[in-house]
Amino acid sequence: MQKLLKDESLVASWRNFFEENCKSDIETVAGGYPEKRSLVVDYDLIDKIEPKLAEMLLVQPYKGLHNAKEALKQIDTASENKLDLHFRIKNLPENQKIIIRKIRASHMGKLVAIEGLVKKTTEVRPKLLVAAFQCQKCGAVIRIEQDEDILKEPTECYEDQSGCGRVSSFKLSTVHSEFIDSQKLEVQENPEGLRGGAQPERISVYLEDDLVGEITPGDRVVVNGVLHSMPRRRGTFRLTSFDKAMQAVSIENQQFAFEEVEISPEDEKQILKMSKDPEIYEKIRMSIAPTIYGMEIEKDALALQLFGGIMKEMPDGTHTRGDIHAIFVGDPGTAKSQLLSYMSKLAPRSVYVSGKSSSAAGLTAAAVRDEFGEGQWTLEAGALVLADMGIACVDEIDKMDDSDRSALHQAMEQQEISVAKAGINATLKSRCALLAAANPKLGRFDEFLPIHEQINMPPALLSRFDLIFSILDKPNRKKDTELAAHILLSHKAGEMHENISKSPDSVFSSDEESVLMAHVKPVFEPQILRKYVAYAKRSVFPVMTDDALEILKSYYVEFRSSTEGSVPFTPRQLEAFVRLAEASARIRLSQTVTIDDAKRSISIIEQYLRRVGMDRETGKFDIDIIATGISHSQQDRMRLIIDIIKQLCQESTDGNAARPDIVGEAEIKGVESSKVEEALDRLKRNGQIYEPAHGKYKITEY
Ligand code: ADP
Ligand code: MG
Repeated sequence: MQKLLKDESLVASWRNFFEENCKSDIETVAGGYPEKRSLVVDYDLIDKIEPKLAEMLLVQPYKGLHNAKEALKQIDTASENKLDLHFRIKNLPENQKIIIRKIRASHMGKLVAIEGLVKKTTEVRPKLLVAAFQCQKCGAVIRIEQDEDILKEPTECYEDQSGCGRVSSFKLSTVHSEFIDSQKLEVQENPEGLRGGAQPERISVYLEDDLVGEITPGDRVVVNGVLHSMPRRRGTFRLTSFDKAMQAVSIENQQFAFEEVEISPEDEKQILKMSKDPEIYEKIRMSIAPTIYGMEIEKDALALQLFGGIMKEMPDGTHTRGDIHAIFVGDPGTAKSQLLSYMSKLAPRSVYVSGKSSSAAGLTAAAVRDEFGEGQWTLEAGALVLADMGIACVDEIDKMDDSDRSALHQAMEQQEISVAKAGINATLKSRCALLAAANPKLGRFDEFLPIHEQINMPPALLSRFDLIFSILDKPNRKKDTELAAHILLSHKAGEMHENISKSPDSVFSSDEESVLMAHVKPVFEPQILRKYVAYAKRSVFPVMTDDALEILKSYYVEFRSSTEGSVPFTPRQLEAFVRLAEASARIRLSQTVTIDDAKRSISIIEQYLRRVGMDRETGKFDIDIIATGISHSQQDRMRLIIDIIKQLCQESTDGNAARPDIVGEAEIKGVESSKVEEALDRLKRNGQIYEPAHGKYKITEY
């Protein structure tokens, strides 16, 4: 096939082009040969100088590339190696960029660029390029080029390869064969390009030689390559419908955040103007899910999460997270899912999934042996990897798989997910904010039970969230009236919109419609808000002022000392304060974190702690409730009961502590009997004590 492609005059033109424009690049590659073996050229350059050659690359890519590669072989370099370089083109013109779902038959065989998110990668495997077969009759070695999936064997011992010409049996000799590294990727459309709720379409991409091993799932890439159709097979039969696939010519990895959000100079002007608005915080809050009534604090928190704190690289190579993790736990029907899905559409680079996802990768990542890998191991990215640099919105997180639950710890704090299985050993990045929602196991949220018991999530995981909001649905006449009015009015507005736009003789006027719509219109349209967020995250990195630092420090210290006997905050909460304050500064596009930002972050955290972190007995904040599920006062009590049991065991004749005696002793020390029962229950459940006979207790010895 390749012999047919060769065209001497084309080779000459390419040689000319390379001699005049790429000489120094070729020398650089030659200097690093054979580790470096690709000459990468910008399409623009070729188009400017040799538009005909450029044009040919697009419409007859194999012919163009093959002759260019031949020309490269003829270029003299300072290196004594005989070079066999790949010719790779990057930066194809905009009109060659095709959205994956728009790929049609007419694109087959053309050089195009697709943009997307890498969902899966297989392990790197050697692939036969030229197979060498040894004739079992005369011993001659017959070489056959392999350009298909299925191994092509010689039908006879070819005389033109100095064989004996007989029909023979052959043995594949791997030593004399030529192999090339190969890898397969699955690239899916960027979530930004999807119309609400549509499933992203995917395409398989084949990589060879020095392109392999560079891409991990979760990467955002532009793949330049030739579109192919691959015959589908049912068993051993070939079908007439084909699958689409791409043979990569080059890959551009998008290194910078939010390249996909384009911000024009006019946008920038508008963004700067918005940032000067003294009511920017209220306006952004009012732009988040305006159809949802109330939930001001939650929306304030979501606004901060949208912008996020600053990720810091430390000199020792570690990094601290800037992303703000938040979780909503609460009664059914309180618009949790609604809020999450709104956020996933608003935030750049976000992904919306349900905890009980259908893909093997789930929330984190998985190495699986699936159909895609054709027998090889495939590494597949889950939601937190796909949302890298954005927000992962995970609804019903309480229903996630156990494997995700353990991987989530690392994913949330280190923002990495390690997968080591079979031939795959990878660390994927999950630098995203997690926005989760959970429904209580028992249907309704119980304010008096620790959260982790209600949502089937271990306390250690729960304490990794910067913000935990409980959402209760309690009847309240005033609030109910307003909520009902809001919901009904927004429905009415929607009805009127439908009526005016769909019925030819509508009796309603568009003025009436806009009056109603004003209730549910965001102050900032999602398009501009999304640009605002991308702009802020891309270019605003505020630094804390000494005043702000002082406020956070004294708040932390004061709070810890004022609530003696309970543990209100740990250093983890202090970090949450910092992130929220940074996000608050970012909203104003401010270069500094000021006192106001520090105060805003304190107020939001206080709000959430008031709801979920309060020790009901003492009325004090207690982070232990979240971290361990037991308040500090409960812990003290459990310790006391253990001491009492120990004492009683020593004193008694049978070596056990009887329940009435325990209760009696505890009451003397000021603990009510109901609390004693509760503590006994807990201790027994924890395995710290056991009950050898009914009503008799003993300490478990380790
Ligand atoms: P959850 O996920 O919390 O169970 P959903 O998000 O499914 O609840 O909400 C159920 C419905 O109730 C949605 O249609 C939502 O719009 C509506 N709803 C609930 N609370 C509000 C509210 N505060 N304002 C407007 N609509 C609401
Ligand atoms: Mg829901």
